Amino acid sequence: MMYEDIVVKISVLLFITLFAYKNRFLDTAALFLSFIIGALVLFIGGWVYFILLLLFLLVGSLMTKLVNNSNSALRSWPNVAANGFWPALSIVFLYIYPDKITPTIFYLGSLNAMFSDTVSTEIGMYLGGRPRLITSPKKVVEKGLSGGVTIDGLLGGFLAAFSFAYLSSILLSFNWNSLFIHSIWLSGFVSSISDSFLGSVLQAKYKCVVCGKIIEEKIHCGERANLLSGLEWVNNHTVNFISSFIGGFLAVLLFNGFNVI
Ligand SMILES: [Zn+2]
Repeated sequence: MMYEDIVVKISVLLFITLFAYKNRFLDTAALFLSFIIGALVLFIGGWVYFILLLLFLLVGSLMTKLVNNSNSALRSWPNVAANGFWPALSIVFLYIYPDKITPTIFYLGSLNAMFSDTVSTEIGMYLGGRPRLITSPKKVVEKGLSGGVTIDGLLGGFLAAFSFAYLSSILLSFNWNSLFIHSIWLSGFVSSISDSFLGSVLQAKYKCVVCGKIIEEKIHCGERANLLSGLEWVNNHTVNFISSFIGGFLAVLLFNGFNVI
């Protein structure tokens, strides 16, 4: 690796970290973790892999800023770990098996899962009417509650998944390889739906003992809330972590025509 190349890459990483810090996209621990994941992706994968990761981070952060007030856009390290674990692990496998395509497909599938889920959630919050529960569509739920979906949100998720697949096909010179594009968009879209499904079935929901609201936090109105449904150890980060894996795994299955081994 050229000396200039290393300097340019480290400068870009530092600049983006500073930008995220200035705009309060991430808290300190999340910044540190993101820097490590970013460095892995940029130094092992290269620019294309890094640009796709950046696209997810930027679109996600900007949309969250637009939809919510500025403070709730601040991401913590469990959020970064849940979103970044599988893409980062794929990159480690890319380092071990540089001539294999599977790590790249897994990387794109897991990243697209998070990308389409984020876009879907934010568009749903911004445009959509009252969300309905994915597991029982007759039930209308509060905006922002996991497992709730809207038509606009689903459409947004589909468009995001397809755009991501199309863009990565151009950047990675797969130019309109239909197997590649279909594997990546379908895995991203399906896992963003499975994210809502798992959010509805597995994620812990509580009922506040003071105000009676259905919430996702253990503590509300200063009191410990009662567990209403789901598993106590499953929160939004756990669901994202599982969905991101599903995205990567499904992309590899589809791309290899189910001949994984
Ligand atoms: Zn309350």
